Amino acid sequence: MRFKYFLLALVLAVELPSLGQNLGMPLDYLISLSGNYAALRKNHFHMGLDFRTDNKENLRILSVEDGYVSRVVVSPNGYGKAIYVHHPQIGLTSIYAHLNAFRPDIEAWLDQVQYALKRNTIDTSFTRPRFDVRKGEHLAFSGNTGSSEGPHLHFEIRNLRTEKTINPLHYYTQIEDTIQPLLSKILFYHYEGESIFIHSFPKEDVHKQTLEINSGSVGIGISAMDKMNNTPNTFGIYAFRLYEDNKLIYQFKLDSLDFRWQSHIKATSDYGLGISDVYKGFFENCSFNLTDSNSKNGIIYLNKGDNKYIRLEVYDFKGNMSSVDFNLTTTADFFADKSRQINCQQEQILTDQKSFQIMIPSKGLAENYTIEYTLEKLATNEVFKMTVLDSSVAALKPYQLSYFIPKDQVDATKLYLETRGDNRLKTYTGIIQDNALTFPKVKNYGLLIVKYDKKSPIISPELIRKTNKVIFSAKDEESGIGEYQLYIEGLWRKLYYDEKNNQFVYSIISSDKGKKVKALLEIADQVGNKNSKTMEILF
Ligand SMILES: [Zn+2]
Repeated sequence: MRFKYFLLALVLAVELPSLGQNLGMPLDYLISLSGNYAALRKNHFHMGLDFRTDNKENLRILSVEDGYVSRVVVSPNGYGKAIYVHHPQIGLTSIYAHLNAFRPDIEAWLDQVQYALKRNTIDTSFTRPRFDVRKGEHLAFSGNTGSSEGPHLHFEIRNLRTEKTINPLHYYTQIEDTIQPLLSKILFYHYEGESIFIHSFPKEDVHKQTLEINSGSVGIGISAMDKMNNTPNTFGIYAFRLYEDNKLIYQFKLDSLDFRWQSHIKATSDYGLGISDVYKGFFENCSFNLTDSNSKNGIIYLNKGDNKYIRLEVYDFKGNMSSVDFNLTTTADFFADKSRQINCQQEQILTDQKSFQIMIPSKGLAENYTIEYTLEKLATNEVFKMTVLDSSVAALKPYQLSYFIPKDQVDATKLYLETRGDNRLKTYTGIIQDNALTFPKVKNYGLLIVKYDKKSPIISPELIRKTNKVIFSAKDEESGIGEYQLYIEGLWRKLYYDEKNNQFVYSIISSDKGKKVKALLEIADQVGNKNSKTMEILF
């Protein structure tokens, strides 16, 4: 027994290096959080901490430990401008995202690289130290770049070796939380290879009661969130435990997550219900089991006459707990009907032989769904439209959609795919091969539309002028922005594309300042429709 406990501790130490060590604060500002680790977001787990900057930008970002810069990213979406720092002595990497700018020597290096390569986006990893940093040393300036919904610092800790993210609160024991999590609803599912939502009850209606349920195999979910001191925001919970007759049958603890598990969030939560803080207390056939691989699957089996004592516990990182307990009985004996279901362990091919084929990889779906599809009526510009499953279903792995191009189809190179997951439009470009247009990595179920993009991006004639900056605006309403370039008097200039605002930011270089110049902005969409505009600008 002793030996077993020793082994467990060892595994944890490898996964979470340097436990017990406190790191420095990443922000030179009053510390208050707006998001915590593993909080449920639209289509992903939040992989770090969000630090509030009270709508301010350009606050000083500091390295949390000695180390060296290991990666620099400049992207129009996602983390925007981000910097990664390796800390080899403690086995961790720290990440700072949505930045406005890096410290001057890193900016100078970036200019050099971007102008040499004529590239607006950058993702460079350093295998050897080029920029050393000390704990507390200035690294960058905070901002709102990438897919950020307001100025803040997104901060992550990863295991340097495995790159798995780690709950940063392990290294910030001084961050206060004395408020217990809020457990508001209990949800019940009938589980039969596929989980089917039955009903939800407010916690107060269930506590210390006996519930009779129309199912012989029950999954339980909760609607729960956490509150913390010194911040008005709401947060994700840290841990969950489910007991059946005082035996633990399911648990998770959100200490470390792999980026490959991001898509599992829809299987862990429930996107069909329209409630954003649902956690399932069971896991599905082909999904993963959050962090505890020894945990059972959480399904409660009931026969007529059974009366089971159920207890649920929800924890925050500081160990504050909320719980509910009740008894569960069933109305009758239920027998499973598995006649129409697919097996999610196996690869699935769906085709009507003449217009499309879908290939879903093994374990690409969380459950043994019954897969149905309908071909939908086409609107102008559309050549193919179908609904398969629905947009709340998790694509645990991307799947492949092929559209069979009819012989008389013209301009097939201008076709793209549009999906609508998480209330967001997502577009894909495909590859044409053997009379099929294939989209190799589709990540959403629900409505799939193959349509034409024959319109070029629209460049606005209006400019926004700021100190040392000129901001151009352009958008593409169909396949989306692809390539973009700016030339001043025929010479390439680097642009930062801010996707969420449809803006292209030129930070005026010293040789352009005070001059009246001819600026040429060229923008193409994802399928290659181009537009350009020449403007006379006084810098
Ligand atoms: Zn964040």
